[in-house]
Amino acid sequence: MNHSAPEQPAAVVARLRATFRTGRTKPAEWRMTQLRRLRDMLTENGTDLAAALHTDLGKSATEAFRTEIDFTVREIDHTLDHLADWLRPEPAPAPAHLGADVAVWTQYDPLGVVLVIAPWNYPAQLLLTPVVGALAAGNAVIAKPSELAPATSAVLARLLPAYLDTDAVAVVEGGVPETTALLAERFDHIFYTGNGTVGRIVLRAAAEHLTPVTLELGGKSPAFVDRDTDLAVVADRLTRGKFLNAGQTCVAPDYVLTDPDTAAALEPLLANAVNALYGSDPAASGEYGRIINERHFDRLTGLLDSGRTVVGGTSDRAAKYIAPTVLADVAPDAPVMREEIFGPILPIVTVSGLDEAIDFINDRDKPLALYVFSESDRTRLRFAAETSSGGLGHGLPLAHLTVSDLPFGGVGESGMGNYHGPYSIETFSHRKAVLDKPLR
Ligand code: NAD
Repeated sequence: MNHSAPEQPAAVVARLRATFRTGRTKPAEWRMTQLRRLRDMLTENGTDLAAALHTDLGKSATEAFRTEIDFTVREIDHTLDHLADWLRPEPAPAPAHLGADVAVWTQYDPLGVVLVIAPWNYPAQLLLTPVVGALAAGNAVIAKPSELAPATSAVLARLLPAYLDTDAVAVVEGGVPETTALLAERFDHIFYTGNGTVGRIVLRAAAEHLTPVTLELGGKSPAFVDRDTDLAVVADRLTRGKFLNAGQTCVAPDYVLTDPDTAAALEPLLANAVNALYGSDPAASGEYGRIINERHFDRLTGLLDSGRTVVGGTSDRAAKYIAPTVLADVAPDAPVMREEIFGPILPIVTVSGLDEAIDFINDRDKPLALYVFSESDRTRLRFAAETSSGGLGHGLPLAHLTVSDLPFGGVGESGMGNYHGPYSIETFSHRKAVLDKPLR
């Protein structure tokens, strides 16, 4: 579609709904073609996308491909490989009281027109991966990229219509006014990734139309480090997980929870790990990202004096650079512990041991992710059984979210619903109950 003025939200939704009503998006062949086209879009324009991600977030090309472009390609490939299986109707046992000739099963029906609203931190992956699921499930989709990553938003708004069926997929760019206007329309599902304040706005707007909603939110994801653990390995993995994308990752370890002796031993190892990864001057490392904007830069630098600086602590507003920073002796009620950090600051909070760590976590909002570094099966089992979080990672941060066959999503304040792989089909479909009794 070529419009001189942007199409109004109501018109876009009506146009996509009309397409959905024709049944065009339902055949598996249409879905697979769209997914293959999306894959072509990513492989043919990876460099453009990576450049936009560098403009918006200072993302290195390596990181852009690994965490956004190749990540999405993998999700597409996995979906193409398994879609026929996932869509197969599933027979259920028929109860005796209906007679021997009754068959019952469930089948997935597409929902209709889906709205995907994405955030700025992984502005390509977090827009496109839900779109993969919505298309695989046979829906029409409106994709709303984040206005806070404007270069990526512009590239996606140009590319998506060039590759996908424009009668069934539309991109609406914009910020609060545009999103507010979209949310006034009736959708069949809204998939929102971002913060809980806007999550509540989305949920309220959806309630008007009884639209089901997935909320992929954030929060403070703790990392518990047990005594008697290989702390050099822990420091290396924590550092990689925390400072990827300059800490602007929803499942980044937000803070470390450990006993005082382990904290003391871990501090120098974290400093070493930061040095090994980004050199003595991370500002000069091509692999280290920047803060999205001045507002977040100011918020984050305001948290830098929440504890004793182990490594980092420096910043440069003009470059939106904040060094990878580890803070020790952080009080549980210090400013850095009062909100999700969402930046390159890793506070270490000490507790007396396992029981207090579990209480500390359970006293707060349910996190999106919980990481446990422990050699003890009993300790690992206790975290699994006694805490609640969107996901649980033993020994390795972030990695669970790269597994397409695991559901990705939060619980409580960290969100509702989930996606990836088969879970995206579940999210973007209605599982219809069917009964069939012959007319004899
Ligand atoms: P953001 O500011 O880009 O907002 C997300 C989306 O909401 C954008 O598309 C924006 O246009 C829209 N929006 C903003 N204000 C709105 C309003 N008043 N009405 C309607 N729409 C509005 O991103 P953000 O919220 O700053 O993202 C950071 C948060 O997202 C963090 O809390 C992070 O943990 C969370 N997050 C979660 C996941 C996940 O998968 N669970 C992934 C990434 C980020």
